[in-house]
Amino acid sequence: MKRLGWLLLLLVTAVAQAGKLEIQGVRLWAAPDNTRVVFDVSGPVVHRLFTLKGPDRLVIDLDNAHMDDEVRKAVAGAGMVTGLRSGPRKQGDLRVVLDLSRPVKPKSFVLRPNDQYGHRLVVDLFDSGAADKSVPRRTQSTSAPSPKQRDIVVAVDAGHGGEDPGARGKRGTREKDVVLAIARKLAALINKEPGMKAVLVRSGDYYVGLRKRMEIARKHRADLFISIHADAFRDRRVNGSSVFVLSRRGASSEMARWLAARENAADLVGGVSLDDKDDLLAEVLLDLAQAATLEASTEVADKVFYQMKQVGSVHKKTVQHAGFMVLKSPDIPSLLVETAFISNPSEENRLKSSRHQQKMAEALFKGITGYFSDHAPPGTRIATSRSRRHVIRSGDTLSQLARRYGISTGELRTANSLRSDRLMVGKVLKIPHRGS
Ligand SMILES: [Zn+2]
Repeated sequence: MKRLGWLLLLLVTAVAQAGKLEIQGVRLWAAPDNTRVVFDVSGPVVHRLFTLKGPDRLVIDLDNAHMDDEVRKAVAGAGMVTGLRSGPRKQGDLRVVLDLSRPVKPKSFVLRPNDQYGHRLVVDLFDSGAADKSVPRRTQSTSAPSPKQRDIVVAVDAGHGGEDPGARGKRGTREKDVVLAIARKLAALINKEPGMKAVLVRSGDYYVGLRKRMEIARKHRADLFISIHADAFRDRRVNGSSVFVLSRRGASSEMARWLAARENAADLVGGVSLDDKDDLLAEVLLDLAQAATLEASTEVADKVFYQMKQVGSVHKKTVQHAGFMVLKSPDIPSLLVETAFISNPSEENRLKSSRHQQKMAEALFKGITGYFSDHAPPGTRIATSRSRRHVIRSGDTLSQLARRYGISTGELRTANSLRSDRLMVGKVLKIPHRGS
């Protein structure tokens, strides 16, 4: 009898140990305005959070859990987190304390296993009470455009990031890394172009929510949103790049959401407030705005796709339509490019190569500038300089044109590298700005 009692006790202890959740790892991702802490847990975890002041800390209590010293010691501070401590509590619970550099607003959720990770507890720390730092940074252009003329803004979105590596190549290349490299190269090209400015939606290895990506583009008043990805497929032979714009179906299901948040939607339809419109009219207005946006998206996508074809093979012959979340801004022309299949070994190699990344960035850049040279939004420097062109008609003379545009014949000659005053009918003359 006694022996059986011992056996039972042992069994109960074993069950208790086996039932205990193990914290197997902790990862920190620092974004400009938040820090994400991810706990790898051996099973679904029940937890509670609260913050403490002086000094600022976040306490996370996990039911029936345990963390090895080795795991804890491996955690290095990042972002707003300066340190991590842990200790057992009553009834086998675990208390984790994050030391913080400033007060935070925490938000937490659990993630179920996927093909890369097991159960996870995610704790996001947001700056509490801090002023909204995502105010658009004004251009630091050295050529001092007149205050009325603005730069064309392109939001360059590197897909995935941080906890979300995206697709993975056979040799371990991660989508999130190569697309960030291409995005940076594209942004550099755009920033070098007079009259244009790039905004990197994600500038490091951290995750940005899909709606947040659209918000960042909107906050910077982007004229275009381009999301950069790399595909994967189980058949490693599949290859080539593709370009996507929003499908009409994706657009219509998104409509309801935008309408629901109509107080925020006032600036989505050219400043027409939707507040005082009835539902049907609001829907029609939004639909019109979105139809125009979709048309613009398709045009720029065609230009970009054409350029991508010059760099490598393509997966499908034409621009594709899909309901990607990030493409659903009703007011910003948006496209998503799958640069290549990272699952295809030779394309994986190319994606890793800095030279190929540059080529890809240049192709995207050519497509984008090609579009804006015909469709520069009014009020931009490029629109102004584009409008200053003159197609020579018979009878035009240099002195007459100089008078008409308020510049000297010398300025006209220099701007167009003219050796003589003879004008060819049909030729396009650049009309420089006075004294430029
Ligand atoms: Zn992707």
